[in-house]
Amino acid sequence: MPIPRPEKPAPGFPSLTPPGPPLSEAAPFPFRCKGCGSCCRGRRDLVLSGLDLYRLSARLSLPPETVAEGFCDRYTGENGLPALRLRPRRDTAACPFLTGGRCAVHPARPLACALYPLGQTISLPDGTVSYFLQPAACGEPIPGGTLAQHLEDSGVKAREPADIRWAAACLSLSEWLRETPLAPLARKIALRRAEKALYFHYRLDAPFLPQLEENLAALRRALSPLQK
Ligand code: SF4
Ligand code: SF4
Repeated sequence: MPIPRPEKPAPGFPSLTPPGPPLSEAAPFPFRCKGCGSCCRGRRDLVLSGLDLYRLSARLSLPPETVAEGFCDRYTGENGLPALRLRPRRDTAACPFLTGGRCAVHPARPLACALYPLGQTISLPDGTVSYFLQPAACGEPIPGGTLAQHLEDSGVKAREPADIRWAAACLSLSEWLRETPLAPLARKIALRRAEKALYFHYRLDAPFLPQLEENLAALRRALSPLQK
């Protein structure tokens, strides 16, 4: 099942090809979610960004690393960076947050869930965001709906600046890791520090984006001495 991603892959944005042309925000988009939960079952592609984990952690009042341990698989993304995805339940293959057929974290659901059945691309370095329709037949029609209204209602528009910054930061970090010669132990240390900076080192009582910037600045200082 296709999911949102930028043109340059980053954690939270698996690499897939958009199935259709970008939609105009003024375009009609007469869609309302029926809450059937189909997009919450049998998925191993619900990849999280740092903002996704931060929002889930705030919703659950748990530290980000605890939420990752409890509900996510940790893996290495195709860009070489540490990444997280929601771990389906072993018994039902459903998302761990699907409870009684409903999303228990709906106000803090990840971007991939908030977008569905839309996909998203972020062009870098300019940060242009485009939306496209995935081949999904779900939901119910609402008269007069537009894409702009849907993006507003789903909270996707409000988080665009953080999602663009995340995609750019991950691209830059993955390029640095690919191009910088590092001894094996130094690479391991670099990846662990990157994981903390991208996902874990956040206070939940402070906004995400300024903390991401602080983490990236601290990460740059920490990575520099690791070069051969
Ligand atoms: S986080 Fe919520 S919307 Fe997303 S897959 Fe899980 S239950 Fe469904
Ligand atoms: S987005 Fe579609 S598949 Fe997912 S819960 Fe809503 S109607 Fe069902």
